[in-house]
Amino acid sequence: MKYQVDERGYYGRFGGAFIPEMLYPNVEALRTTYLSIIESTAFQNEMDDLLKNFVGRPTPLYFASRLSDQLKAKIYLKREDLCHTGAHKVNNTVGQIILARHMGKSKIIAETGAGQHGVATATVCALMGMECLVYMGKLDMERQKPNVERMRILGAKVVPALSGSMTLKDATNEAMRHWISHPKDTHYIIGSVVGPHPYPDMVARFQSVISKEIRSQLIAEQGNPFPDHVVACIGGGSNAAGAFYHFMDEPHVHLVGVEAAGKGIDSGESAATTALGKPGVLHGSKTLLMQTADGQVIEPYSISAGLDYPGIGPLHAHLLDVGRVQFVSATDDEAMQAGIALSRLEGIIPAIESAHAIAGLSKMNYDEDDVIVINLSGRGDKDLDTYIRYGNY
Ligand SMILES: *Cc1c(COP(=O)(O)O)cnc(C)c1O
Repeated sequence: MKYQVDERGYYGRFGGAFIPEMLYPNVEALRTTYLSIIESTAFQNEMDDLLKNFVGRPTPLYFASRLSDQLKAKIYLKREDLCHTGAHKVNNTVGQIILARHMGKSKIIAETGAGQHGVATATVCALMGMECLVYMGKLDMERQKPNVERMRILGAKVVPALSGSMTLKDATNEAMRHWISHPKDTHYIIGSVVGPHPYPDMVARFQSVISKEIRSQLIAEQGNPFPDHVVACIGGGSNAAGAFYHFMDEPHVHLVGVEAAGKGIDSGESAATTALGKPGVLHGSKTLLMQTADGQVIEPYSISAGLDYPGIGPLHAHLLDVGRVQFVSATDDEAMQAGIALSRLEGIIPAIESAHAIAGLSKMNYDEDDVIVINLSGRGDKDLDTYIRYGNY
């Protein structure tokens, strides 16, 4: 079985590049150069240096002994929450900014929903002295004020998207429009394993450092690189793609993706794409998305802003198709309770996205001596208001 993207940008029946004709030259330039650039020694040396000294990698693989006692397994947490800026997203933005510079670009655009990808992009633009425009729905700007101000402190310009529902999909449309009219000097940094080819493959490669480190850390811990299970939450799917990457060809490693069930899969308020989605085109690739009978995208819902996305990346749609990954879901309540439990048991307040991954353990089968790696994608600082509103601690 093959899990890598093919020449045309497909994973099985999903992927491709469904873009307006005017965007074609930009995407084509990226497609024809990204592999040779990111495989070059100059790129890799710079990337390794920044991941180590700027991001703080390798992140620890922490044996969570009290959580292990409670849940009756050997549980390790991959501590992406300890990355600079508080989540895994910076692994990808560091990669893309170096790539942009190697392509001779001087300006960066990005879109953001809750603001986490915008902050990670503004951070690397400051690092490189590049101009940064972040498109954000006007409604999201009102809901996520601290992240808007973070981006501004870092020197980015945050542009409100005023069309449609004034949320993520409108910000994405406006970023695309900007890219069409500034193809020469501008690179568009996408924040997950979504978008037209080559973005899903490129972002998965940049995040694959997670599973590369897990393998060598497990050799040191237990003498072999393989856990029995790897568990990660899925919004677009980038932290999961990174955590699964170097285990995909090892069928004895059970891979589990945890989606946001929101108020319940059948409640009409969820973001559980693998349970509810149908094939369609979203953000430039063919994938699974939540849509009405006549193909309108359904507004997703989750208590966690990072999982509140109506689709999944084409790689994950394919992994579901071929049965390589088990997809489960956790509700708002299950995730919040798991987040509070982790805080009490291990002294780690997780991002609510990552709390979904912990809640996912109750939806899968495992034995008492199984080794489980949970990818702790981010820290809970950004979610303090949500924890406070939820209460029950
Ligand atoms: C953005 C985000 C996610 C969801 O994005 P993926 O691309 O699915 O990884 C998960 N966790 C955290 C902490 C995030 O910021």
